[in-house]
Amino acid sequence: MTTDTLAMEIKRVEASRIHEVDFDNLVFGRHYSDHMFVADYINGEWTNLQIVPYANLSLSPATAALHYGQAIFEGMKAYKNEAGEPLMFRPLDNWARFNKSATRMCMPEVPEEIFMGGLTELLRTDAAWIPTAPDTSLYIRPYMFSTDAYIGVRPSDTYKFIIFTSPVGKYYSKPPRVKVEQHYIRAAEGGVGFAKCAGNYGGSLYPAKLAQQQGYDQIIWTDARDHEYVEESGTMNVMFFMDGKLVTPATSDTILNGVTRKSIVDIARHWGVPVEERKVAVKEIIDALKEGRLEAAFGAGTAVVVSPFGVIGFEGTDYELPAVTEDSFVSRVKNFLTDLRTGKTEDPFGWVV
Ligand code: PMP
Repeated sequence: MTTDTLAMEIKRVEASRIHEVDFDNLVFGRHYSDHMFVADYINGEWTNLQIVPYANLSLSPATAALHYGQAIFEGMKAYKNEAGEPLMFRPLDNWARFNKSATRMCMPEVPEEIFMGGLTELLRTDAAWIPTAPDTSLYIRPYMFSTDAYIGVRPSDTYKFIIFTSPVGKYYSKPPRVKVEQHYIRAAEGGVGFAKCAGNYGGSLYPAKLAQQQGYDQIIWTDARDHEYVEESGTMNVMFFMDGKLVTPATSDTILNGVTRKSIVDIARHWGVPVEERKVAVKEIIDALKEGRLEAAFGAGTAVVVSPFGVIGFEGTDYELPAVTEDSFVSRVKNFLTDLRTGKTEDPFGWVV
């Protein structure tokens, strides 16, 4: 089904707000483009598909999502190629993950033609908002939440699916200092760690704030049972380059299956770099660091792309990581991913849409 056949109403803004935005100084998540895509789930089907001006919502105080957290989201980015055409990176992977999150949170799936059709039409409508300077992009936020005005605990009958976008610049301005967390946890086996549900982020804020008070930017989460194995960090998967290999925790119930992570794994294999996806012990990383075998530890995610860590804090000691050189795996993969997403290099994987 092509997106052009999707029936939706389009109400355009009377006057664009684009001139209010300083595109030379974009920060993350402050400005929202002129329009948003909205759809409602009522009586077991998606209806009222619309592109409307970005505006406040009106909700009942009893809106179920606000009480019991049936709320999921995705994060993706659009770029422009040199011809000025909007490009998306593996959007169907975000769509598939969105529906995995929906199923886990007892919410309806969004069909491909609505997710992709809404997204495509929205990008067409607000194409002028896609920035083109280095390290900038249009961040895309699809999300869904329950809308029944009912405070009994049960799955809602009605939902809203919205996509809005935000022109953004760099996420971290310098290599983040990360702390290996050994008390709080993000996810446990059988839980919702693999889902992009709102509560996972709400629950991470307090431990992250404590880490910030100790001088760190972000937490490296460890397993819920023994705090022995590395899981992920903030809104990033974690990856290590050591002993000439790319090493990263295997995805599981407790780890979000990141699109950036799996792209880096595929690129490494394509380049002939050995890859290990397995359990990664914190101790193993610290030992490699002490013995000079750890070339880089980095976060990988849509918001940050690739973000090498500057410091890892573990059991009260701060371990400095070596500076990342231009010819390192991390720099090469970051540049390659950026070139792919912006259409500057041939895409051997068929990821760019
Ligand atoms: N882990 C978590 C908890 C995240 O929120 C994100 C961001 N979606 C990631 C990892 C990275 O995933 P992706 O590469 O798909 O953005």
